[in-house]
Amino acid sequence: MSEQSLGFGTLAVHAGTEPDPATGARQVPIYQSTSYVFRDAEHAARLFNLEEVGYIYSRLTNPTVSALANRVAALEGGAGAICCSSGHAAQIMALFPLMGPGCNVVASSRLYGGTITQFSQTIKRFGWSATFVDTDDLEAIKAAINEDTRALFCETIANPGGYVTDLDAMAKIADEAGIPLIVDNTTATPYLCRPIDHGATLVVHSATKYMTGNGTVTGGVVVDSGKFDWSASDKFPSLSAPEPAYHGLKFHEALGPMAFTFHSIAVGLRDLGMTMNPQGAHYTLMGIETLGLRMQRHIENAKAVAEWLEKDPRVEGVTFAGLPSSPSYEKAQRIVPKGAGALFTVAVKGGYDACVKLVDSLNLFSHVANLGDTRSLIIHPASTTHRQLEEEQQIKAGAAPNVVRISIGIEEVEDIIADLDQGLAKATA
Ligand SMILES: *Cc1c(COP(=O)(O)O)cnc(C)c1O
Repeated sequence: MSEQSLGFGTLAVHAGTEPDPATGARQVPIYQSTSYVFRDAEHAARLFNLEEVGYIYSRLTNPTVSALANRVAALEGGAGAICCSSGHAAQIMALFPLMGPGCNVVASSRLYGGTITQFSQTIKRFGWSATFVDTDDLEAIKAAINEDTRALFCETIANPGGYVTDLDAMAKIADEAGIPLIVDNTTATPYLCRPIDHGATLVVHSATKYMTGNGTVTGGVVVDSGKFDWSASDKFPSLSAPEPAYHGLKFHEALGPMAFTFHSIAVGLRDLGMTMNPQGAHYTLMGIETLGLRMQRHIENAKAVAEWLEKDPRVEGVTFAGLPSSPSYEKAQRIVPKGAGALFTVAVKGGYDACVKLVDSLNLFSHVANLGDTRSLIIHPASTTHRQLEEEQQIKAGAAPNVVRISIGIEEVEDIIADLDQGLAKATA
């Protein structure tokens, strides 16, 4: 069975897994084991030298977690993947082999609020920095890249604003600068978009969201395309030069397209320890089996709800990129042609107070700091997830005080609309 030729729904159920070699178990067992017995001393030595692939210790690799990594790599069209303890861990793990003290990442100004905080504040502790740019302004991106830039970073469908990034244009700029493009594909999922097909080098995910799909797991994944030439310049010594953290191994020379993946396991997971646990990997594998089915329903419902809201006089605007009124509409047709996701913001007449009242008046919607659940969810970013940001940053990130973010679930669309209808009546009374 060649995985290359199989369709999304088939890969989602089969990729990366086979009946358990020890027992024949059809479902991927949860290998709840920390360590793995070596056949002999020679076997152990070969594993530690990366001369043979196998299991040593679950901070590095675990059979259940590896099954998930291989499945996500197949869905994204990548060469390899590593699973992490959260989406935020995945972001650090994606940057880790590329960056060093004094290096910077040029990032879209439209990102998940937590990512803006991670990039603008926390990564400074490592001596890294981020420059934020409006990714619609291609000249501004080029101008922001300097000799210390080691990556471009953006989201396919930016959270929370329903903004679609022109991945092809971003990849072209990254290519010309000799740096990788990293795309957070959490809100699109590989069902709606495969960033590697648009030229991305690395794809990061919060598996916490649509991938698991029902709000049971905190997890993340980094997928590597395997296509970037780490040795083309001296910018990525961890991958191209002898790595002092792994007895001088030259990862790119030794492992070719798997260099990033192996470095991330052998050095990144080994020393940073942001590992996914096998239970989490199991739930995510279960979730992915139905990812395509759920996404079909999510995008159908989201489109219907967005169209209904846009016509409602109590609403000032809707940022769903699947609406012809959206500035992202043209890009959405190219980047996410099946549908523009199920996450968008709604500007409510009455501003901040009306938003808070709406959140408190809904019955079917859950008021939570999450997205991509089977259930419909709502949050007022300005008073919660984007609270740490200045108002100007909030507006830039698409989280102005007068907007609520909604994540449309897979319930019956009539019930979703009825709940919003009664909530808006109370909020704007
Ligand atoms: C949730 C989210 C993250 C962070 O993921 P966690 O699993 O919560 O750490 C990053 N990016 C996007 C787009 C997200 O929605």
